[in-house]
Amino acid sequence: MRPVRFNIHPKTAEISTAVSFVPAPNGYSGEGFFTAKMSDVVGLARKNSIWPLPFATSCCGIEFMATAAAHYDLARFGAERMAFTPRQCDLMMVMGTISKKMAPVVKQVYLQMAEPRWVIAVGACASSGGIFDTYSVLQGIDQVVPVDVYVPGCPPRPEAILDGFMRIQDLVGQESIRRRNSPQYQELLNSYGIE
Ligand code: SF4
Repeated sequence: MRPVRFNIHPKTAEISTAVSFVPAPNGYSGEGFFTAKMSDVVGLARKNSIWPLPFATSCCGIEFMATAAAHYDLARFGAERMAFTPRQCDLMMVMGTISKKMAPVVKQVYLQMAEPRWVIAVGACASSGGIFDTYSVLQGIDQVVPVDVYVPGCPPRPEAILDGFMRIQDLVGQESIRRRNSPQYQELLNSYGIE
């Protein structure tokens, strides 16, 4: 995989045509051949082409907007293709306070995403309810959907969101292609009432 990256500096608008290469997976190479594990190759492709679904409900969503904009440039990670269509996305990013009324909607969106899918809880509210320890606020989205990465902060800076995104990339890149069919994964889904 050879993603071509054009860097446009926000101040000078200089265009660099530097090409970044992602490291190849571990394997064996010789003259005219390269072999690697299927899981590693699939993981390499998946981790560099994640399509996020931003589920932003409040202030953390604004930090995400900065993360996606030119200065922090989420597109560097191959994740610039954001959408609000769950069936086209594989990473749900929940950013903001989730009320208990909104919780079934979060779960519905998660259910509409195809496997393999991952979830990041961005910020204190999505992770634990944050400062809103009240009757109306969900005390963490992991009460309704399984979460892969938690990003701390109120709000987390874009650097922290990028770090969370990179942790997701690590998980995606290392995940066995058999994991989603394993009894352990089925058990995890069952614990959330998901068939
Ligand atoms: S964690 Fe803080 S910044 Fe983020 S949505 Fe909650 S109150 Fe707002």
